[in-house]
Amino acid sequence: MNFSESDNQKINIENSSISLYIKREDLLHPFISGNKFRKLKYNLIQAKKENKDTLLTFGGAFSNHILAVAAAGNANGFKTIGLIRGEELEAKIDDNPTLKKAQDFGMNFEFISREKYREKNSFDFKEHIKEKFGDVYVIPEGGTNDLAVKGCEEILSQEDEKFDYVCCSVGTGGTVSGIINCSKSSQQVLGFPALKGDFLREDIRSFVTKSNWDLVTEYHFEGYGKVSIELIQFINEFNQKYKIPLDPIYTGKMVFGVLDMIDKNYFPEHSKILMIHTGGLQGVDGMNKKLKQKKQLQININD
Ligand SMILES: *Cc1c(COP(=O)(O)O)cnc(C)c1O
Repeated sequence: MNFSESDNQKINIENSSISLYIKREDLLHPFISGNKFRKLKYNLIQAKKENKDTLLTFGGAFSNHILAVAAAGNANGFKTIGLIRGEELEAKIDDNPTLKKAQDFGMNFEFISREKYREKNSFDFKEHIKEKFGDVYVIPEGGTNDLAVKGCEEILSQEDEKFDYVCCSVGTGGTVSGIINCSKSSQQVLGFPALKGDFLREDIRSFVTKSNWDLVTEYHFEGYGKVSIELIQFINEFNQKYKIPLDPIYTGKMVFGVLDMIDKNYFPEHSKILMIHTGGLQGVDGMNKKLKQKKQLQININD
């Protein structure tokens, strides 16, 4: 894979002294999206070192990580196996744009029940994987491990030292951990969890050495994968205004939060803020299918 630096794009906000930029990590690759690209880099190198020919990982129905592993495996000569949460999905691959694309990249699936999926980190399940699939390279759900954090330490460039705040969406916390590790102590890193729950702080602490960070927990929109009409309208208007597509699961919620906080004068005057666009746009088709079924407003980021 070719690792380049991504560009920062300015977001003009009227009547404000704040200077706001967004780092377009979403443009690194169409399917190995943003941070998943960073998280896989050193894992692929390690898998090659260990002479593994197969990558195995876990994910839900619309997982950015599943598709990223399928595409990265395909591009780098690995076979890939996805253990997917939900047995009912097996019959619906053709209706699921994420799984369909992953399959086109050669990924093989095993569909497992939600109960079994919860046990995926247990000793017994690890033995089951060894027995069934042999000596595979296992990447955890969401892709977060030490090597993933190391990859995410390459998101910020030297030029980014001028920012006072770096804002990033949080799922498992691997990406924000890498950003914290490569930030300057004079910078403040704000993570915006896309899900409810306070366990993330501990997880992040286990990966970082610095304390110049905090979590903003007000912008999860009722939980992981949940969206509101307000959020969809925001994403559509943001795209119309700035020509920047946002995904509804992660980056859309974080950008909504940052703009809301600017509105509420959370940031001191003349602050320089960098938001990280971590990608995830492959998931928009799947989300739109669900919204259409419910006859709700859909995401429109194609123009
Ligand atoms: C997975 C993902 C995240 C969350 O990353 P973590 O390292 O799990 O915190 C954020 N944004 C996008 C677009 C993602 O796909």
